[in-house]
Amino acid sequence: MLVAKADAVKVIFLGGLGEIGRNCACLEVEGRLIVIDVGIMFPEPDMPGVDLVLPDLTFLRENADRVDGIVLTHGHEDHVGGLSYLLRDLEAPIYGAPLTVGIASNRIREAGLLDKTSFIEVADGEVHRIGPCDVEFIPVTHSVPSAFAIAFHTPQGIVLHSGDFKIDLAPVDGRRTDLARIGELAKTAGIRLLLADSTNAEEPGFTASETTVGETLRRVFAMRPGRRIIVACFASHLHRVQQIIDAAHASGRKVATLGRSMKNNVELARKLGILEVPKGAMIDITEIDSLEPGQVCVISTGSQGEPMAAMSLMAAGQSRFLELGEGDVVILSAHPIPGNEWSVGRVIDELHRRGAEVIHSAHEAVHVSGHARRGELATLLSVAKPDCFIPVHGEYRHLIHHAQLAESMGIDAERIVLSEDGDVVRLDAKGLRKESRVPAGYLYVDGAAGDVDHGILRDRKVLASEGMVMVVATVDLSARDVVAGPEVLTRGWVGPSEELLTVEAADRVRAALLDALREGTHDVEGLNRVARRALGRFVGTRTRQKPMIVPIVVVI
Ligand SMILES: [Zn+2]
Ligand SMILES: [Zn+2]
Repeated sequence: MLVAKADAVKVIFLGGLGEIGRNCACLEVEGRLIVIDVGIMFPEPDMPGVDLVLPDLTFLRENADRVDGIVLTHGHEDHVGGLSYLLRDLEAPIYGAPLTVGIASNRIREAGLLDKTSFIEVADGEVHRIGPCDVEFIPVTHSVPSAFAIAFHTPQGIVLHSGDFKIDLAPVDGRRTDLARIGELAKTAGIRLLLADSTNAEEPGFTASETTVGETLRRVFAMRPGRRIIVACFASHLHRVQQIIDAAHASGRKVATLGRSMKNNVELARKLGILEVPKGAMIDITEIDSLEPGQVCVISTGSQGEPMAAMSLMAAGQSRFLELGEGDVVILSAHPIPGNEWSVGRVIDELHRRGAEVIHSAHEAVHVSGHARRGELATLLSVAKPDCFIPVHGEYRHLIHHAQLAESMGIDAERIVLSEDGDVVRLDAKGLRKESRVPAGYLYVDGAAGDVDHGILRDRKVLASEGMVMVVATVDLSARDVVAGPEVLTRGWVGPSEELLTVEAADRVRAALLDALREGTHDVEGLNRVARRALGRFVGTRTRQKPMIVPIVVVI
């Protein structure tokens, strides 16, 4: 492919490469920056007390004056959930489909940051000038309506980001992945660099169409007359919600929503004409008890077993609106995302305990993925015919499998760059290569308290796995003596023969403090250090454990 001698274009990856979630990348063209998505990630099991994880936003904070805009591929939390954190540090307009922008703006409004941005609603196929770049928004199918692939027309040729996508040939709203447009770009200007979703790169074949779920739901509903049906799914999966409403309507049921995000998204989607609800089909959740069980369908949040969501509350018998029991049917119309399997399993157990029938994807096809499998990934590669390729969005193994697939499709190995979070990749006339690194560590957020740094998380892990050993002593500086204690206290720690240890340990700390006083250590910090070291060494050699050591030396 012929590329004019022009400025290099760079892609800076801040999140989503090597993990599922916190998707965030940045395109640098002629020294200006466009941000692509700012998502969150749900915490891993070894992150106690962490509510969510953000991309490291240091690079964007330090280059805030170069950012011309933020473009959104779609409305999932792992793509838009971090916007309210980024907008603390910089001001820039946000471009996205009306639904995407509607979902994103809720969070930004809650954070009181609406004045830091403006929302530019983009229609399918539109081109917007952002900084030095024409940016084209191309429809793709995914598990939320109105998703885009985004084509950036740069001096180095077209950079195409697939966003999250699948190639659904029978989507619920008839809006298909616009392969024709991608093919046209490939035939005319040519696609210089493709960045594509790797989530299902290990899965062979093709992801089933969303409409197959509708057929299953209609059958499952029809086979359970006279019984109340509760379906849980992602609140943003409005095509799923549409199919649940349709199945309910066809079986003579009224529909109520349960859970705040479900209610908000259904309202937003009705306003935008994305959801079509037959007249009189929806009722308020407070009205369900006035109907026969066979006339009721409830659409609920909490398909991921989130502890405070509607489904978990129902399973625990704590819902204000609905008491589950014998005869009720619960359909979990979602797969647990990695890390949530355990919580979902507990909820399923509790639902069984209440006597409900539980239907999930192990017995019926009540869910399909929103991500392309290998067949679809190969289709995109063959239509886009990219000169260069970077797999994005996925764990490391997904990225590797996607890179191998691209190579098998005829892309030169040296034109495929396996990148990870923090990589700055340079595209110029010579090709594609890694150039440098930017900070890309995890940024932890504890909902109530705000940012959690690595030190706090390390402390929490030590407390959770090893417990704490504390020593309290009072020191008289003029007498150079320990006048009270040392007393050793433990919390959550299991030491062999704890009493003996606490007596011996206290003696060791006393001896160390007396030595230090004699040698002239007279400051509180110094004495605390001495106490910590003496106790830590004692506990370590006697027990081979590493609990948290907390010294409290009081000086009089
Ligand atoms: Zn995603
Ligand atoms: Zn997504």
